[in-house]
Amino acid sequence: MIRITQYREKCIGCNACVEASPFRWRISRKDGKCVLVGAKSKNNIYSLVVGDDELQAIIKASKNCPVNIIRIEEL
Ligand code: SF4
Repeated sequence: MIRITQYREKCIGCNACVEASPFRWRISRKDGKCVLVGAKSKNNIYSLVVGDDELQAIIKASKNCPVNIIRIEEL
């Protein structure tokens, strides 16, 4: 299992995470920032636990994020 955490406030809506893992991220039409699909938020920090099958895609999303706001923790 992997916990994904996104510090959404600093998102610049570049779409890199969506390209890396389109089933897990999408750009919001409301504010142009990306949404971590299925996540819950606390103080604008979004987190979610997903299966290991998503690991490669999530690592790519995290590495490609230019503002480094996607964190991964293997549980
Ligand atoms: S890669 Fe980072 S900055 Fe770009 S849309 Fe995703 S979370 Fe936002």
